[in-house]
Amino acid sequence: MIKLDDFSSFFVANWKLNGNFQFIDQFISKLSLPKDRSKCVVICPSSIHLDYISKHKIGFYVGSQNVSQHKEGAFTGEISAESLSDLNVSFCIVGHSERRQIFYEKDEDINLKSANLIANKLIPIVCVGETLEQKEKGITNQVLAKQLKASIPNSSNFGNTIIAYEPVWAIGTGLTPTIEEINNTHHFLKNHNPKFNNYKILYGGSVKSNNVKDIISLSNVDGALIGGASLNSDEFTKIIED
Ligand code: PEP
Repeated sequence: MIKLDDFSSFFVANWKLNGNFQFIDQFISKLSLPKDRSKCVVICPSSIHLDYISKHKIGFYVGSQNVSQHKEGAFTGEISAESLSDLNVSFCIVGHSERRQIFYEKDEDINLKSANLIANKLIPIVCVGETLEQKEKGITNQVLAKQLKASIPNSSNFGNTIIAYEPVWAIGTGLTPTIEEINNTHHFLKNHNPKFNNYKILYGGSVKSNNVKDIISLSNVDGALIGGASLNSDEFTKIIED
């Protein structure tokens, strides 16, 4: 398993349902990785491209965007944590808001997925985040604490799990919380329960090359989860550059 403490920051590209072999070849040939090897760069392509990108990767890690909550059996179309580990996949995003909203994933599913990943020595990147309605009601912290409590399995600790704070209303919209709001929310996530004091917590939601430095320099932020901007190799190179 990857030793998370070996890294100072994490940059996770979530390609969602985008990309093909030609795109991957071009992206890898144009990508320039940071000289600072303490920056951990992870690319999460669609499942069908995991094997290809694992075999062609140079200097970055590969992550899945999802995994089954089931270990094996009659679950047509599902992908197990064990099969991800066969492919040299090191990380897996779980509980992304698109999975929660479009595919009705519940905290309980995310908990089982994360436990299966940990048992197979993969790092779950567990996403939590409030909707705009919840933000406006002033219940962001309550929502996040509840999501974390239910979706982080007992086997999780700061060495085998990453948390990603992704406000639902900031994903793909160009909107972000203020820098102060991001830092305060991350401070809350790390301190509301001693269990989470040392967890790495990434911020996700409209991260671009023009805002990443301000976000990453916050004391409570350990990296970024990047959607749209990670599909352009020049822009992604700028995001991860030293
Ligand atoms: C995401 O999908 O996890 C995400 C953060 O997307 P974007 O960067 O496009 O807001």
